[in-house]
Amino acid sequence: MHSRAENFYAVWREHCRAVNVFRDGGSVPPEKLLQTIWLHQRLLRDRLKTADGRSVRVLHPGFVSVAGGPDFRGAVLQIGDEPPVNGDVEIDLQPNGWHAHGHDRNPSFQNVILHIVWDGTPISTNLATLPLKYFLDAPPAELALALENESSLPEKLRGQCSAPLRELSEERLTELLHAAAKVRFQNKAHAMLVRAKNSGWEQTLWENLFRALGYKNNIWPMLCLAETKPQWQRGAASAFEIQARLLGVSGLLPDDLTRAQKSSDTFLRHAWDLWWRDRDEFETCILPRAGWRFHGLRPANHPQRRLALAAHWLAADNLVANIESWCAATLPDKKLLASFHDVFRVERDEFWSWHWTFKSARLAKPQPLLGGARVTDLAVNVVLPWLWIRAQEGGNAKFQHEVERRFFAWPAAEDNSVLKLARQRLLGTSNARFLKSAAQQQGLMQIVRDFCEHSNAICADCRFPDLVRSWQTPALT
Ligand code: SF4
Repeated sequence: MHSRAENFYAVWREHCRAVNVFRDGGSVPPEKLLQTIWLHQRLLRDRLKTADGRSVRVLHPGFVSVAGGPDFRGAVLQIGDEPPVNGDVEIDLQPNGWHAHGHDRNPSFQNVILHIVWDGTPISTNLATLPLKYFLDAPPAELALALENESSLPEKLRGQCSAPLRELSEERLTELLHAAAKVRFQNKAHAMLVRAKNSGWEQTLWENLFRALGYKNNIWPMLCLAETKPQWQRGAASAFEIQARLLGVSGLLPDDLTRAQKSSDTFLRHAWDLWWRDRDEFETCILPRAGWRFHGLRPANHPQRRLALAAHWLAADNLVANIESWCAATLPDKKLLASFHDVFRVERDEFWSWHWTFKSARLAKPQPLLGGARVTDLAVNVVLPWLWIRAQEGGNAKFQHEVERRFFAWPAAEDNSVLKLARQRLLGTSNARFLKSAAQQQGLMQIVRDFCEHSNAICADCRFPDLVRSWQTPALT
């Protein structure tokens, strides 16, 4: 075989500098490279020692954190003579990064059990510090080249269920994922039933729609708003009146004009004209602004925009009837998504179709208030379980069967961080298209909840692999 220098493609690559720019001789490698080295454990694993001389045994390096906080979550490490512990790992180039980046004051970092640095004297905390420089299994530049395309989970870090799952045929794997998805679907539906017994079917639907509009960060304030809907909706009829009311009770109506965006200030003046009259009457419904989370939110997901969408649904006053008609209609599978989107589509909002937020400038082109990704979320997590359980309670088996059929036929949703990790860890693939339907995705998320969340990174005491094995080869009767 040719060496790298003789390989013309390697030469092209080097010349075009498509490779990592780090080279030996530089003082400190990039932090990203240290993270990749740790993930792939390109280390002298049997020689690892903290700066104060304690041995470090890595039973699992943890999972790359995608939601902020420490770089790796859920590592399993044995430090010195202590028993193995689960915890997080943070990587900073310099030891003083711990203070300089504010990790010492950030509660998200309180489970960090190992601070990895390139080199240097550890900070004066009890935190174990590993200077990585002394334990690489190859020179950093070589590692940079070898690992540059390695972003997914290394084979050796896959879950213990990965092997038996790989043995399943495509049909059997789908059967397994669908069974788990059905559990998830029915759990959601039964939670709705419990709520509906207290507050009625329509109110239950609205509460779950609002929750879904809260996405990950703002589920709870959205739910609180929906719970007080019978109060704050009184007397508001038009979409704008409901928007003003919703902005007021949510605590998201800004006190000050932007003084920079004319159309925003016009909107805000009109909204305040309505809200200052209503405020006393709905005071008990008002939420504190501090209850909302804005960190890391894309402008399209800003709760003010989501509330505008809900205001249109409420003003139209035909959402439930339209959902029922959609369910009663005969629809081929390939029309499910588009027809459902039509039920929830808001054609135009004078302000929000043209603005992401109050502070942003007017957009060149109008943007939809509801994107395609959220539509599947609404269908799979809210509307289909709601229709299904209502049909069951009404004794309408035919309707219930049709809802279930639509659930299993629904196309795959947008990828997310839970799915990404689960695909790699359980199914050994980073290909998002591996899961072809929303039900398969839901099934995988249910397995994570039922098994991964009750175990740890090294799959301790997880019964799932054995369950899969015995299901794969049923006992002869
Ligand atoms: S904890 Fe269980 S289900 Fe999760 S990856 Fe490990 S073996 Fe699989």
